[in-house]
Amino acid sequence: MSITLQFLGAARQVTGSKHLLTVNDKRVLLDCGMVQGPRRLSNKLNTQFSFRPPEVDAVVLSHAHVDHSGSLPRLVKLGFGGKIHCTHATRDLCEILLTDSAHIQASDARYLRKKGHEFEPPYDGVDVEKTLRQMKGADYHQQIDVCEGVRATLIDAGHILGSSQVILEVDDGSSRLTIAFTGDLGRKQIPILCDPTRYRAAMS
Ligand SMILES: [Zn+2]
Repeated sequence: MSITLQFLGAARQVTGSKHLLTVNDKRVLLDCGMVQGPRRLSNKLNTQFSFRPPEVDAVVLSHAHVDHSGSLPRLVKLGFGGKIHCTHATRDLCEILLTDSAHIQASDARYLRKKGHEFEPPYDGVDVEKTLRQMKGADYHQQIDVCEGVRATLIDAGHILGSSQVILEVDDGSSRLTIAFTGDLGRKQIPILCDPTRYRAAMS
């Protein structure tokens, strides 16, 4: 019986949010963001994972910004076949942002090849379409059965349209934990957006 949480991105850096929760033999990825930075460094980080994508059971996505969602099509391209849980609005925004991301990478590749450099885009439009089919929208406060031993509830993060904090109820058969994954949090009293929802307690 075991619960582990690995911080694989957005740790000692801002972009590339990616965290792997393992509960017994089940693996849940929290966000799958793209690293934005110098091409040589980011290209390596955006094409390789430190885990095997087919072994991930599910993804929970906090919001649509590319530094949180931008490597999802790469994950799917490398064999992830599970569901990606997020709010309905996050799914709708990802359709725009991930399609745009694939276009940017294709045009980067054309430019770099013209300059004599080799650059293979991490994914293309077909991978994005496949990713969108795996995305499952949920309402705020709806309980989501992510996989055996993991349930999630999304609450408003007040950051962008559809953004959420992910409250995870984790049970490995011998202990229970509540883990709160905030993603990016908004501020209070901002026009248009709601204030971030407060939650009772975490790591209890
Ligand atoms: Zn953000």
